[in-house]
Amino acid sequence: METPGFLPMERFQSLLEELTRDGFRCVAPQIKDGALLFQTIEHIDSLPSGIEQTQAPGHYRLQQTDSPRHFSWANGPQALKPQTFAPRETLWVSEVTANGELRFHEAPTETEPLAVIGVRACDLSALRLQEQHFQGAQSDPYFSARRRRLFLVAVHCTHPAATCFCAATGDGPEATEGFDLSLYETDTGYFVTSGSLKGETLLHRLDVDQGDATQYAKARDEVIDAAGLQSRQLPEGDLQQNLFNNLEHPRWQEVAERCLSCGNCTQVCPTCFCHSENDVPDISGLKTAHERQWDSCFTPGHSYLHGITLRQETSQRYRQWLTHKFGSWHEQYGRSGCVGCGRCIAWCPVGIDPTEELAAICSAEAKQP
Ligand code: SF4
Ligand code: SF4
Repeated sequence: METPGFLPMERFQSLLEELTRDGFRCVAPQIKDGALLFQTIEHIDSLPSGIEQTQAPGHYRLQQTDSPRHFSWANGPQALKPQTFAPRETLWVSEVTANGELRFHEAPTETEPLAVIGVRACDLSALRLQEQHFQGAQSDPYFSARRRRLFLVAVHCTHPAATCFCAATGDGPEATEGFDLSLYETDTGYFVTSGSLKGETLLHRLDVDQGDATQYAKARDEVIDAAGLQSRQLPEGDLQQNLFNNLEHPRWQEVAERCLSCGNCTQVCPTCFCHSENDVPDISGLKTAHERQWDSCFTPGHSYLHGITLRQETSQRYRQWLTHKFGSWHEQYGRSGCVGCGRCIAWCPVGIDPTEELAAICSAEAKQP
């Protein structure tokens, strides 16, 4: 195995400088409102230094430690999703001109080159799923334009949260594809590998030292060991079949007694793509913006059809979320819609954990009603 070049911590700034020189705005996770959020970064001093985190059902807290590392945490509430699928955007505008004609204008799409630093393996898998959805049979031009402008710098995960289960879904903690550059973090710097031609080109311009094979093996072992730190699992067997065999299981009602139908789980989920589209007229009545915004299978309007809300009960909405994400997604995209990031567990205000619900509904011991 070839040892990648090593970028010492004191030269990490050069990565931002090279990306900026190529015209990229750089974003990286930084602390805001007690969480790690992707924000514009100009200097590595703005990266979280020595920050670790505790995540549990309905719980997310950051802690300051003495570690010199910048990426000793699992994830924040955002994945890559908002960078490619905007939470709210105008798709087109229609207007009545002075001579009474109706005109349609395509809304401009964001094309500013964007480098995202600190992407996790699970989020790269989620991006691939979003690509399948938005760039499948009919390519979505808004998603595609945002996707084309990205340069992705992955950082392999060494500190999974207690809520993570990417090892169980096969999506992490090591990033294996989908990045332009990837970093194995150590206390003194980063082993850098490239995953694309543009990554390789940029890597050649970085002032990296020759990597030490023993140190590299140690850095990779940390990532491999991170899989062993994860305790959450998915039930064995055919999850899709087991879910559809249990559509009337009493657990759907039990979980509905706790679920607030708030949709937090779907908003933080990096693979959820449901959205609604609305026409928003301006006050003159002559101009209308056609907007798209994130929706959720937990909102009443999401199943509104011909005057009827089909899924009126929270139990039906929760069942829709789980049976789609872990069941029928296989038929649509050839795999489950879950990449094991654990966000829906940490950011659920009442701490509902899909791995627990799946175990109760689908495991071999689960009693069929
Ligand atoms: S279902 Fe939960 S754990 Fe799975 S990808 Fe979505 S947010 Fe992450
Ligand atoms: S499972 Fe949790 S986050 Fe999702 S809708 Fe219910 S209460 Fe909200």
